[in-house]
Amino acid sequence: MAEGDTIHRAARKLAEALAGKRILDVEVPNPRSPLRRQGDRVERLRGATLTEAEARGKHLLLHFEGGLVLHSHLGMRGSWQVVPTGEGARDRRAWVVLSAEGLEVVELEGSRLDLRTEREVRSDPRLRALGPDVLAPEFDAETGVAALRLTDQSREVGEALVDQRVLAGVGNIYKSEGCWSARIDPWQRLADLSDDELRRLVIETAALMRYGLETGRMPRSIYRRAGQPCPRCGAPLRSRGQGDANRRTYWCESCQRSGDNPGVEEDQ
Ligand SMILES: [Zn+2]
Repeated sequence: MAEGDTIHRAARKLAEALAGKRILDVEVPNPRSPLRRQGDRVERLRGATLTEAEARGKHLLLHFEGGLVLHSHLGMRGSWQVVPTGEGARDRRAWVVLSAEGLEVVELEGSRLDLRTEREVRSDPRLRALGPDVLAPEFDAETGVAALRLTDQSREVGEALVDQRVLAGVGNIYKSEGCWSARIDPWQRLADLSDDELRRLVIETAALMRYGLETGRMPRSIYRRAGQPCPRCGAPLRSRGQGDANRRTYWCESCQRSGDNPGVEEDQ
């Protein structure tokens, strides 16, 4: 499952692979690829050079000279790969294969893939609505706290954290892991959390995501470990669907409780 760290890593990898190289060929092997409906734009991509690979939360935008942007969202199952020449086009699952000198860049499935103009990207309501990207260089704890305070304070913090309009890039895994690291109860309403608690949550979540970005490994202490002992206190971990989308939240009822933490109550 791709969260912000995976997308930022993909952006780095693709920028490195395609730097200064012309796209020699574009293939769309999978009949279900959304690019099958964009034949004219696919043609225009041939011969273009990548100018920037940009991650915005869970969205990846490959900007090409000539004004086209390949916009992808990987959803639950999609992925980007860089493979030696000849390997990508043989994969019939591929939504797109970009051939450059010595390599192929392959996108497999996902929830969206579109060739768009820069103007279309600029006016995309979903991109415009994104909250601050947790992995953006300028992101800091105060930005994160302010973003969490801008949304409806009656929301549960675990539900607000995965709303891309609040903070971009946090998915289900980092939601659970971030709350656990910061000892925040994911079911607590934002209104009932102090700024210090939110700051701690933002700092812990961002640190875990930066670790994922730099190492390619998602740090997992509690995700998908319901029933197993909490690594911190030994109580059995729990899980339950949260929010309208019923995204599963993992947490420890015993050590993720507000007010349990030294130094927090005094600050309230
Ligand atoms: Zn615990």
